[in-house]
Amino acid sequence: MSAGGTGFRDLRSDFPLLAASPELVYLDSAATSQKPRAVLNAIREYYATANANPHRGAYKLSGAATDAYHGARREIARFLGAADPDTLIFTRGTTESMNLLATAWGLTHVHRGDRVVVTRLEHHANFVTWQQLARAVGAEFRICELTPDGQVDLDQLRLLVTANTRVVAFGHVSNALGTINDVREIVRIAHAIGAVAFCDGAQGAPHLRVGFEQLGVDAYAFSGHKMLGPMGIGGVIVRRRILDAMHPYQFGGDMIEFVFDGDSTWNVLPHKFEAGTPNVEGAVGLAAAVRYLDALGMDAVRAHEVTLTRYAMEQLATIEGLHLFGPASAEARSGVVSFTLGDIHPHDLSTMLDVDGICVRAGHHCAQPLMRALHVTSTVRASFYVYNTAEDVDALVASLRKAQVRFHAHVG
Ligand code: PLP
Repeated sequence: MSAGGTGFRDLRSDFPLLAASPELVYLDSAATSQKPRAVLNAIREYYATANANPHRGAYKLSGAATDAYHGARREIARFLGAADPDTLIFTRGTTESMNLLATAWGLTHVHRGDRVVVTRLEHHANFVTWQQLARAVGAEFRICELTPDGQVDLDQLRLLVTANTRVVAFGHVSNALGTINDVREIVRIAHAIGAVAFCDGAQGAPHLRVGFEQLGVDAYAFSGHKMLGPMGIGGVIVRRRILDAMHPYQFGGDMIEFVFDGDSTWNVLPHKFEAGTPNVEGAVGLAAAVRYLDALGMDAVRAHEVTLTRYAMEQLATIEGLHLFGPASAEARSGVVSFTLGDIHPHDLSTMLDVDGICVRAGHHCAQPLMRALHVTSTVRASFYVYNTAEDVDALVASLRKAQVRFHAHVG
């Protein structure tokens, strides 16, 4: 198989870090993606031509910063298929988005005796937030288990989502296994009894065409840095009626309408949930990232990743002692392969791969409840994105074979 076989030209030259290190095999995009030159340039251009504090000044430069910020919001909302850009609230990323929902919505809408449901696949950002909300208000916290190939057990979910369930919080795509969830079905199950469906899209937005309106979720959270954008910017799209019924998350500048001595009133959306000086640089950089992804086409991005993942799964299956976790088909997962290799500790294995310039993640992937269910403490995870090629997969497989030989020579 050649890199061209995936339908993309080799994109490494668009990514300064990868272009500067031709020997580097970056297979950790589920942790964070590399950034194309277009994103770096957009940030530089913003600071060189439009930097001021947005919303605060009557002068033209402040207007330029305000336009840059809200223009970015409109572009990102369109990319994610949200009809109402003012319902896209910028945050630092998915972690802050889920905390915003659990705090600003959860504390007033979930009560003692209610039920909160998550799945066994969740990242801690979408697990601990709801676990702790449930503990704080005295609600019941229930976890939907998985089928043997790492998919959410929808039959069990139908039983778990009872009349007293207020929220079903679930990921679009698992960062640890790559499993793509049936979002529409999970939404149907939640809505059938009047619960809200909040989706952690940290691993969905970078890899799949999201279509917020069609998915039907009540909230969709995402992180810019996993989708070619800068760190420190992300957001959550929330249905307007839910935002209207939510208390502010943080207090301060920009989110205020009037402040009286005894109480205050709140600005309109999206400002009500964006207290303080915003991350304009991040928003502008993320808008450039979604333009880059749009130019590639999200269907092409997906096709590229399925091809690479299928090839990786075929190649990994030829390595004796390698145990691959997650869905059996490449179509059922995003570009993630999570595995163990014989007795080699995942941390040792990733250190050995690093010697060959291969960057993979080893550990529990912020999914300890999932690791426990899989009866492991950690796995090695390789994750693919637009700049990866079949040659990267070949390099991974060759280095794994080498590590296996070295390990066995060492332990006898
Ligand atoms: N949810 C999932 C599925 C993730 O993969 C991650 C990051 O790895 C997060 C949430 C947290 O994202 P961030 O660290 O960008 O807030």
